[in-house]
Amino acid sequence: MSIVRQEMMLVDGEWTSGGRDEKIEVVNPTSEEVIATVPRGTREDARRALEAAVIAQRKWEETPPIKRASILAKVAQLIREKREELARVLTSEQGKPLFEARLEVDGSAAHFDYFAEFARRIEGDVLPSDNPGQTIMILRLPIGVVAAITPWNFPSAMVARKLAPALITGNSVVLKPSSNTPLSAVELVKIVDQAGVPRGVVNLVTGDGSEVGDELCGNKSTGLITMTGSTEAGQKIMQRASNQLGKLILELGGKAPFIVWRDADIEWALKCAVWARYWNCGQTCISSERMYLDSSIKTKFLAKFVQMSKALRTGDPTSKMTDLGPMVSKKERSTSERFIDLAEREGSKIILHGGRSHLKKGWFLGPTVIEGVSQGSPLVQKEIFGPVVPVLEVETFDQAIDMANDCEYGLASYVFTKDNVNVMKAVQRIKFGETYVNQVGPEQLQGAHTGFRMSGLGAEGSRHGLELYTQLKTCYIDWNDSPSLPYLFPYH
Ligand code: NAD
Repeated sequence: MSIVRQEMMLVDGEWTSGGRDEKIEVVNPTSEEVIATVPRGTREDARRALEAAVIAQRKWEETPPIKRASILAKVAQLIREKREELARVLTSEQGKPLFEARLEVDGSAAHFDYFAEFARRIEGDVLPSDNPGQTIMILRLPIGVVAAITPWNFPSAMVARKLAPALITGNSVVLKPSSNTPLSAVELVKIVDQAGVPRGVVNLVTGDGSEVGDELCGNKSTGLITMTGSTEAGQKIMQRASNQLGKLILELGGKAPFIVWRDADIEWALKCAVWARYWNCGQTCISSERMYLDSSIKTKFLAKFVQMSKALRTGDPTSKMTDLGPMVSKKERSTSERFIDLAEREGSKIILHGGRSHLKKGWFLGPTVIEGVSQGSPLVQKEIFGPVVPVLEVETFDQAIDMANDCEYGLASYVFTKDNVNVMKAVQRIKFGETYVNQVGPEQLQGAHTGFRMSGLGAEGSRHGLELYTQLKTCYIDWNDSPSLPYLFPYH
């Protein structure tokens, strides 16, 4: 048996294997081989990390934001210097093509630069009082300790998106990455450590959501929980956080509608539709998960969409010739395959079945397109999170909007039309946290990434996201030489 990398956790500035001997094996989804292990952290490890974070935060909070910003800028610089190495680690544990992994690593660096810019802009208010000789100040203070819980589909960017705003606002962090893809988090935390973030301000505990995650979410030391992941896990976290009324940012599942109207730039819409569904092998929360096509263009559009889907190259994600790598795990592929089986059972027409690929190893699944699906089917209502897309037909633009909104998720949505009235209807009436008009994502740093309904709570990115890492505090200050108030005792 070959020797694999053994990574550790960071608790109170020390790299440690924690309180239990057991390891989590990290498997390369292309080769199906174990490439590394990380500790299966315990509840006690999580508690130790929280204790360290509480103590370290007091000093970090007193560090001027501009000094914190210089450390964040250093983190960004180190990420850029290690771009290739980090991208290869990411691809090896998650399976996305190296081209996409490099872009993700660039995005991680950009998060640290972007939030560093807020050092001089963590703003409060100064307000006039109703009384003479008094002033009111509203301040934004750090919350304290942030529990950051991340998924496997963007194992680097999701970590950066939480660490950077937490740190610039003076919070400390305990990070728990997904057990499928902990290596990118380990590498980022090594960089954070190297950049000079003080001991205990960032802690990393690897382990199960049901143990380490559960402890972080329900512990009285945790002030804010910022979690990206499934709606189901988000609901459990919300219940658990009620223990200490922990503040919550939840970025959860999506089921993005992709509407193409007859007046759109069809060639462009096609290119966007293909990318929006198959990017990251369909494992993106803003992926196009259901297409609504104007009935007058449907047949032609769909024929070309299938042709372009078929032309995508599935294979080794480290090859320049690959468009789609494997799915992250056997379990995730099975979930997508169950949706394809269901489509067959429901009598829908599978017009392209990508299958498992010619390669002997790897959790591959090729592009799959399904027609004749009903709006009420789980294929249209539930998150598929793989390269499988149901296609529906609509007669009017208003009908497309109604069908788009008829879903418990409300994260991203797409509209392709050149008609201004349609654009404004989409802007106002599509009740989703993001609407991309004649374009695709990914979301940008200055945009608020947020969800309606079961897609989440709060926001990430933008100043709105940043503010959620702060606690409001109001100070009433009396500066009268001879203070007096008409309503103090005695009343007569
Ligand atoms: P997941 O919910 O299985 O896990 C996410 C994280 O939560 C992991 O670290 C996991 O260990 C932890 N976790 C699970 N149960 C927990 C619990 N009870 N207490 C505490 N922590 C717990 O999600 P996943 O499979 O890793 O990621 C895919 C999901 O993430 C999809 O639904 C996708 O849409 C969503 N996602 C959303 C966004 C967004 O911005 N809205 C971005 C990326 C992914």
